[in-house]
Amino acid sequence: MTDFLSTGTLPDEYRELALTVRDFARQVVAPVAAKHDAEHSFPYEVVAGMADMGLFGLPFPEEYGGMGGDYFALCLALEELGKVDQSVAITLEAGVSLGAMPIYRFGNDKQKQEWLPQLTSGRSLAAFGLTEPGAGSDAGGTRTTAVRDGDDWIINGSKQFITNSGTDITRLVTVTAVTGQVDGKKEISTILVPTDTPGFVAEPAYNKVGWNASDTHPLSFTDVRVPQENLLGERGRGYANFLRILDEGRIAIAALAVGAAQGCVDESVRYASERDAFGQAIGRNQAIAFKIARMEARAHAARTAYYDAAALMLAGKPFKKQASIAKLVASEAAMDNSRDATQIFGGYGFMNEYAVARHYRDSKILEIGEGTTEVQLMLIGRELGL
Ligand SMILES: Cc1cc2nc3c(=O)[nH]c(=O)nc-3n(C[C@H](O)[C@H](O)[C@H](O)COP(=O)(O)OP(=O)(O)OC[C@H]3O[C@@H](n4cnc5c(N)ncnc54)[C@H](O)[C@@H]3O)c2cc1C
Repeated sequence: MTDFLSTGTLPDEYRELALTVRDFARQVVAPVAAKHDAEHSFPYEVVAGMADMGLFGLPFPEEYGGMGGDYFALCLALEELGKVDQSVAITLEAGVSLGAMPIYRFGNDKQKQEWLPQLTSGRSLAAFGLTEPGAGSDAGGTRTTAVRDGDDWIINGSKQFITNSGTDITRLVTVTAVTGQVDGKKEISTILVPTDTPGFVAEPAYNKVGWNASDTHPLSFTDVRVPQENLLGERGRGYANFLRILDEGRIAIAALAVGAAQGCVDESVRYASERDAFGQAIGRNQAIAFKIARMEARAHAARTAYYDAAALMLAGKPFKKQASIAKLVASEAAMDNSRDATQIFGGYGFMNEYAVARHYRDSKILEIGEGTTEVQLMLIGRELGL
């Protein structure tokens, strides 16, 4: 990996990975995407396939069962999956960057040995519980509490909209909780909660607008007792650690969104060449060709933005602003491209079994999850000293 990445000259190992995931997305993911979307079913067979390919272990060292790759490799995989099925892509994104990564970044040896091999293999999933009914963008508003009782923590509270938190293979939820007060401010820490702990409940799944094959639940915690060694990272550093995880996660979400934006371009080029109206292919009309050209430009500009953020991150340089910019422009590109693609498909674009219709419903959450558009603007403004 160099600190220079171009959308035109990917080093061979990255190129090969992207092509392998592209094949998998076309041959395994695409044929069942509409079915899982319609049935709101979690794609266990697809997840098992991604696990066999090692995708859940991409950015982790081999000593923890990983593939020894890096975060950019994960992004390339997410872009390819995002072209075809955002639900599958977000399952991988959340499993790796929100599920396993906090343990890799902040866990002690024992926690890493216990959890990482099963998470990097894709045999188990971990979820990331930050958002609460009263605390989303303002995550410091956390109300869930963890109180010390002898050698244990007792956790009470609730979390909301948590991805991968209720599947048959979910084994762990990492939660933020208030563990005390320091200088009149909440002390927020992060605690590992195995999902078989009494008092932990994944409530029934949400009925969402999109990402229907992705698993999302409200969670409740009633006198959930876990040993004190389940504290992840330093006591009181939970909020700061989660912010670091979210900064990285924004690059991954941007990659997924670029995939969605590009998937809409690819579908539109094909359809505009095949669909005839008034005696010629609709793509012969400049109004349609210009629309698709603009879609391509949005996808390309957003890809450049996430490549840049990833290159800075891997080079150990500050990347917070670039990650927010990438997330902002890529999520808007996905939303704009899915709207344009739906228009190009005409009435077919409004039929759920068409990929562009799914992208139209799926893309909206890209402007909301892992920091809304307004939060990205706040972060970019802050980086500019405003
Ligand atoms: C499908 C899905 C999956 C998710 N997965 C996870 C997960 O795995 N883990 C997790 O912890 N969370 C998850 N989330 C939660 C997600 O991160 C939050 O929904 C998001 O951060 C926004 O929080 P909120 O919904 O509370 O909205 P709010 O914070 O209440 O915001 C409402 C609106 O107000 C705007 N706003 C808020 N403050 C300001 C301000 N200061 N200036 C201008 N505008 C402002 C926001 O931008 C937004 O438009 C998921 C959400 C969804 C829908």
